[in-house]
Amino acid sequence: MAQINSNYLKLPGSYLFAAIAKKVAAYREKHPDADIIRLGIGDVTRPLVPAVINAMHRAVDDMASAETFHGYGPEQGYDFLIDAIIRAEYADRGVEVARDEVFVSDGSKCDVANIQEIFDLGSRVAICDPVYPVYLDTNVMAGRTGELQGDGHFAGVTYLLASAENGFAPALPEKPVDLIYLCSPNNPTGTALSREELAKWVAYAKETEAVILFDSAYSSYIRESDPPRSIYEIEGAREVAIEFKSFSKTAGFTGVRCAFTVVPKELKCRDRAGKLQSLNALWLRRQCTKFNGVSYVVQRGAEAVYSPEGMSEIRAQIDYYMENARIIREGLTEAGCTVFGGKNAPYLWWKLPDGLDSMNFADTLLERCRVVGTPGVGFGPGGEGYFRLTAFGDRNRTIEAVERIRSTQLFH
Ligand code: PLP
Repeated sequence: MAQINSNYLKLPGSYLFAAIAKKVAAYREKHPDADIIRLGIGDVTRPLVPAVINAMHRAVDDMASAETFHGYGPEQGYDFLIDAIIRAEYADRGVEVARDEVFVSDGSKCDVANIQEIFDLGSRVAICDPVYPVYLDTNVMAGRTGELQGDGHFAGVTYLLASAENGFAPALPEKPVDLIYLCSPNNPTGTALSREELAKWVAYAKETEAVILFDSAYSSYIRESDPPRSIYEIEGAREVAIEFKSFSKTAGFTGVRCAFTVVPKELKCRDRAGKLQSLNALWLRRQCTKFNGVSYVVQRGAEAVYSPEGMSEIRAQIDYYMENARIIREGLTEAGCTVFGGKNAPYLWWKLPDGLDSMNFADTLLERCRVVGTPGVGFGPGGEGYFRLTAFGDRNRTIEAVERIRSTQLFH
């Protein structure tokens, strides 16, 4: 008799996001003419830049003749893309990464979800609270987390609280952990870890033989000089960290799908007998077995992101989103609200007045301003009391949403 993986039954389900969608649908039904502005979207809205489109058109033409046709590609990705990644993301910043340390994939979501497979099931996991839910849910599915408790936390997970009180830089865990998920710039808080903070984590991981899984999907949004764009800018990080980066938010590839993961060869981890093993070798084995590469056309498009035209075009696009972020941050701050993030990330993390429930606030914002955002509690119990707005919307609609919020007495 076949049996399911019962760990899946431990997942609470994304009831919150379904509940928000339901609320908006019900509001629309009651007010069919209401002009609703969505500042909850975590997806880009600007089209692919011309450099990428042109490169993809040329790549489609390559596929039309036998001489330039491409079938299965290398599982790790084509060298033309890997070399462009190494140059633009690492070498130009003085960071050394070798070709066989870069693994091109069809998204960071899959990579951050799948990476846990190469670690022992008994590994103790630390994740931030609030958090991008994929890190937690994939460990629940694998059976590493124990049961969900009444406080919304899993019994077997170490939670690293990121709040206004600690400047969204979680303290080191009190109990030993083996796998540490860090995300900087952060979704949902929109804040980024400083060099000093990252160095603290690298030192901790080295000392305790833990591994850092560093999600840097938003690194191209970093504007200030301090937050590192790569964890490998920190000395010693090659021995303790795996890094994930994506073209999704950097270059509008959410619907195209391309990302990459770096697994340095110095990164070793013990087997059950205590012998050190290469994580690079394990991830290569995993990818070759379960993944057949990203399409040639998409990889040519990604390569074009790093061309001089591509770089300047995506820069303009990121500037557009970051100007939206500034408009939201400054507009709400001037209106007396407390807003974090939005300086090195396309997310704003609005601290609600004490005691205000983020789910109820979603109703208030919809009914009074016709603006949709995401209640912080959707990202974990540590997100309660906060509300996420995103900068991925249209400029005029963003300005309009901020105006509506400013002209409404929301908290009285
Ligand atoms: N990591 C973080 C923190 C994200 O917010 C997202 C998408 O929203 C991803 C990874 C997924 O990126 P991709 O589109 O490359 O799968």
